[in-house]
Amino acid sequence: MVWKPSEKEEEYFARMEFEKKKKEEEEKQKKLAEAKKKKLKELHHMKCPKCGMELIEIDYKAIKVDKCSGCEGVWLDAGELEMVSKLEKSGLDKLFSVFAK
Ligand SMILES: [Zn+2]
Repeated sequence: MVWKPSEKEEEYFARMEFEKKKKEEEEKQKKLAEAKKKKLKELHHMKCPKCGMELIEIDYKAIKVDKCSGCEGVWLDAGELEMVSKLEKSGLDKLFSVFAK
């Protein structure tokens, strides 16, 4: 005798199958989003947000200043603007002279 599931069981299994596939799809989307984020990071890391050229990192009094090799824009990491604002005038002058042409 061939075992035949009732309609209710079929409905239940179909729903289970759907839930399982939905979960798999969500996992896939999550992984895709993470991969996209990682790729974007790799693509843009240490690149100027304005012109896309390489940034050159200069260490000055524990402040890592990123200066663009293209447009000469200067970029600061989180908290560094506060550090720059606390520099003495002479320190600021030295910082600017690092970038002077
Ligand atoms: Zn630039």
